Amino acid sequence: MRTRPLKVALLGCGNVGSEVARIMTTQADDLTARIGAPVELAGVAVRRPALVREGIDPALITTDATALVKRGDIDVVIEVIGGIEPARSLITAALEHGASVVSANKALIAQDGAALHAAAEQQGRDLYYEAAVAGAIPLIRPLRESMAGDVVNRVLGIVNGTTNFILDKMDTTGAGYQEALDEATALGYAEADPTADIEGFDAAAKAAILAGIAFHTRVRLDDVYREGMTEVTAADFASAREMGCTIKLLAICERAADGESVTARVHPAMIPRSHPLASVREAYNAVFVESEAAGQLMFYGRGAGGSPTASAVLGDLVAVCRNRLGEATGPGESAYSRLPVSPMGDVVTRYHISLDVADKPGVLAQVATVFAEHDVSIDTVRQQSRPDGAAGADGASDASLVVVTHRASDAALTGTVAALRDLDTVRGVASMMRVEGE
Ligand code: NAP
Repeated sequence: MRTRPLKVALLGCGNVGSEVARIMTTQADDLTARIGAPVELAGVAVRRPALVREGIDPALITTDATALVKRGDIDVVIEVIGGIEPARSLITAALEHGASVVSANKALIAQDGAALHAAAEQQGRDLYYEAAVAGAIPLIRPLRESMAGDVVNRVLGIVNGTTNFILDKMDTTGAGYQEALDEATALGYAEADPTADIEGFDAAAKAAILAGIAFHTRVRLDDVYREGMTEVTAADFASAREMGCTIKLLAICERAADGESVTARVHPAMIPRSHPLASVREAYNAVFVESEAAGQLMFYGRGAGGSPTASAVLGDLVAVCRNRLGEATGPGESAYSRLPVSPMGDVVTRYHISLDVADKPGVLAQVATVFAEHDVSIDTVRQQSRPDGAAGADGASDASLVVVTHRASDAALTGTVAALRDLDTVRGVASMMRVEGE
């Protein structure tokens, strides 16, 4: 056992950083035994130095994060500041000055992962970021290491707790979107500005990271198709229920059937209630992985929160410290397969479309013709007159027509919906939702 401690610089001491520091202190003996050397907190960079930080020696606090990472005696830098800058410059400087890096920063890794991995490789150091995707849930290491001998074809995940909380409330209580968002905000699940969550930006960053690792290729944030969940209504949940489905905001990464390309997307989707992801309640996260040899795997747990996220950060800390002691590095970026990322139009899936139509003879045939003209095959159709339907200009009262398709390309479906809108008898497309996980 080495007695000289490994020195750790902590950048950021907020929700996650304060828990990392607390666990490093309270579990110091166990960490020492597991690593094979003591780990010492050598400095903590923050923005507001005057803030009282329980359990942290005030002498360790600094506002000069750059000087801390450039000290030269730091073995590991933990970056839990978040955002692109100064995190990117600090991580780059840390690697250049000989430190390995652990980060929880999904936005930065999704945007600049390739360059940061290259910097780590050049310096012979590690860059680990288990906490960047789905908080406490071990996902990066299982995909990168445990499944390194398998071929992953699909990753389907609930990777944002805020949106899952909102959709779960809408499903279980019949609440509308705004009411469910208000409850999420009151309970602290949604931030004052929830845009990153509800518009799918947070999930898209995670999808980019997952797709890159799962398929051994580079997938950037810009490659990920993204739709938020603000348009999901109580009526959509009623339709989903009739189909034996619920609605989740999903991050979906797929290898094409011919294996020659990949897609990554984030959008709300109906999934059957029998699918394991349908049972993921409240703010929990889960990721469902389909691979050739292992078959189906599901990873489930807390996707956020200071302590759960710190668990993933500390797991990485132990791993990179062990590597330092063994004068080795763990697996770096694996992007050898260089697969192109196909556009959303190439994605093939099923669709649930709800139309407001005139309630008169021939409408169904007209609508079916439009689907056929676009090569989209219909699985089921349900037409229902609305007792309260107002008469349109043609004197016919409104009905609703719900069409569920067989598998078709997104491009074909988009063309179908555009043509349906042009029909005189179609008064509106009330909703269009993809059906996944069947
Ligand atoms: P947070 O509570 O806002 O903490 C950020 C910390 O960074 C604060 O201590 C802040 O200092 C410090 N900081 C900000 N700008 C700085 C600068 N220029 N120089 C030095 N320190 C600076 O954030 P968090 O929730 O802990 O999240 C940290 C990271 O973990 C993010 O990348 C986030 O995406 C990721 N993450 C968080 C969760 C979660 O549940 N919170 C889950 C998964 C991943 P002050 O304390 O002085 O303000």
